[in-house]
Formats: sequence, C-alpha cells, structure tokens
Amino acid sequence: MQPHADSVRALASEYRNAAADTLSTIVKIPSFSGKEEAVCRKIASLCQEAGFDDVRFDGLGSVIARVGNGPRTIAVDAHIDTVGVGDPSRWTTDPFSGIVRDGLVLGRGTADQKGGAASMITAGRILKKLGYDGKFSVFFTFTVLEEDCDGLCWLYLIEKEGLRPEFAVSTEPTSCRLYRGHRGRMEIEVKVRGVSAHGSAPERGESAAYKSARAALAMEKLNETFLPDEFLGKGTVVVSRVDVHGPSQCAVPDQGMLYLDRRLTWGETAELAISQVKKAMGSDAESVAMPRYDGKGWNGAAYSQELYFPTWKIPEDHPLVTGGRHAYQALFGRQPEVGKWTFSTNCVAICGKHGIPCIGFGPGDEDKAHAPNEHTRIDDLVTASAFYAMLPLALEGHA
Ligand SMILES: [Zn+2]
Repeated sequence: MQPHADSVRALASEYRNAAADTLSTIVKIPSFSGKEEAVCRKIASLCQEAGFDDVRFDGLGSVIARVGNGPRTIAVDAHIDTVGVGDPSRWTTDPFSGIVRDGLVLGRGTADQKGGAASMITAGRILKKLGYDGKFSVFFTFTVLEEDCDGLCWLYLIEKEGLRPEFAVSTEPTSCRLYRGHRGRMEIEVKVRGVSAHGSAPERGESAAYKSARAALAMEKLNETFLPDEFLGKGTVVVSRVDVHGPSQCAVPDQGMLYLDRRLTWGETAELAISQVKKAMGSDAESVAMPRYDGKGWNGAAYSQELYFPTWKIPEDHPLVTGGRHAYQALFGRQPEVGKWTFSTNCVAICGKHGIPCIGFGPGDEDKAHAPNEHTRIDDLVTASAFYAMLPLALEGHA
C-alpha cells in the first residue's frame, strides 16, 4: 500500500518526543572524527528498534540501514561525527548534556548534524509503521569522518562497497530549506626553494622568504580575478599558512612553504586552480601540488583521497528537486525555499565526484555548526522526518 501525506505528517507529529529523545541520546555520546564507534553502535540499535529491514556496518564503520526492497535506490545521509567543543567557557550548558527544553535540543552536534540522523531514524520508523513497500530501497547512511575529510566516507561507499544510489539527500542543516548545491574546495601546497648564505652577506644567496612573500601577494591578486557563477557565487583563494626556514636564524632561508585554501565555483576544477597558481607565482614556486588525506575509521580501516572536493549543483528543474518540492507541498501545503549551503558536505563525493544527483534538506541552522551553544528546534526534527519519509513517495508520483 502507498502511504498518504496526511498519515506521514500525523506520524511525524506523533513521534515528535521520540525524535527529540533520539537526538538527545546520540548527542550525549561524544563522537569526534575517528572515534564514532559508540555512537554508531547506538544508532544501529536505534534503527533495529525502529524496525528497519536491514542494519549493517560498512567497511569504514558507517551504519547503513535500509527500509524497503524496491528496485530503485535513494540514500539519505547524515554524518555522525562532530568537531570538538572549542572553548568550554563559551558554553552555557555542558556540550554533551543533550538537554531538551523550550522546544530545543542542546549540545554539540545537534545542528551539525545529529539532528538529521535523529530525523532519519524517525523517518524509517514512519515508513515501517505505514508498511512502505514502494519502488525504492531507502538507504539511511550514518557516516563517519566527515568533519576530517568531507566525502571520504561516500567515496568508500561508492567505490569500495558499490552503493550507487539513483538519488541522494544530505541532511546537513538547511533550516528545512531545499538546497541544490554548494561550492567545492581544495587544498594546495606550494614549495619554494632558495639558496642559503650567511646572514652577513645576503647578496650571495637567494631568499626563500622574499619568494614566499611574492608568492603570497600573487594570491591576493589572483583572488580578485575569479568570476562568479549566478547560483554559487565566486571562488576564493586564501593563503592559510606560510613557513620559511634555513640553516640558522642568521642565514638567508632556502626553504619555504605556502598552504592554500581554494574554494571552487562552478566550472573551476583542480587542474584549473593549480595552473592558475603556477602562472601567478611563476618562478617563485618550485612546485604546486594537491596533498592527500589518509583517513582511518574507528574500526582501523584506512582510506585515502586527494584533498579535492568538487563543486556540485543540480538544475532547479531536476526531477529530484521537483520531487522534493512535491513532497514538501503535499506535507505542508506550500512550496519550500530553495537555496544552497555556504559550507561543504558529503555531496562533494556523491554529486561532485560521482555525478549522483543530490539535494539537501536538514533540521537546524548552518550558522550553529561548529559554534558554542549549538542547538536545534524540535519542530525542525518533525518537519525533516516527515520530508524524508515522504520523498520516496513523491519521487514515485504519489504526492
Ligand atoms: Zn556537517
């Protein structure tokens, strides 16, 4: 049987307190990147209790929970690692209290993005309660290591585990708006080489300090030349670190390093970004390269990728955006706001690298992410859990 928007909405309301409790429970379990075992085990047991059809761990330690057995596949993703708490004196409550009060759940990860995870568990419970047996297998993925390296967990799922859904939804915070893209990013390491000489006779040497300084100023100029995309805006380049050293403090330095944070808009690839840096720095740069990230899951599994997170967006009239609009309209009687994230998500791997269409829809606000006194509205958990349960139905044309 195919559930109806009214029954989805009614169950989401009925499960309101359960969703808030679920979020509180998983916020009380700290889960910094690479240390997610306890929260993953808790989430797996919560999915089992909710009646999911299958719950398993992937090779990197993420939890993969499925509802439905249809031939089409959709994935709904939440990363369940969090950043640290920062300065504890900035928090008015314990970051791991999971306090539920005044319509909010409080604590590290409530917005970024265990609220999405709690709403996904609730959505699975709704679909099971309604006996969903439609055309989709709905994979709810609770993924690891995102805060360390966005998308790595999904490169692993696609490339090593062969999970290649037709559509994906990221549940990072969007304040329950429908998002369809964000800028990409990459990291670039520049090596600078000089010739050392005694500090009393600089004319005998070639200073890596002056070359590094010229190279850094060339980035300030390069940043002014980038062109905007009408939806995503402009890319940027930032010199995030400069190191210079030589044989002593009383010598012309012969080695330099610049680290660059490059945000990429539509049409800007890693190759383009590297060639722009090479051209702008000229002979001051000895090498311009993209470093790699070596990740290690809580279970000890290793996976590695280049520090390149490709830009992604999908058109406003894409069937996935249309399906999202229909789901929202059927549930709430109005159209969702459509937009984009400022930060980066796992969609860099899913859509940016592998071309699988993504949308974003999540409880909580992006500006609460990584901030002290992080919190999420319980109303958002209700809205998001109804949306995730409704989306497969809408995509099948039942909304
Ligand atoms: Zn996040």
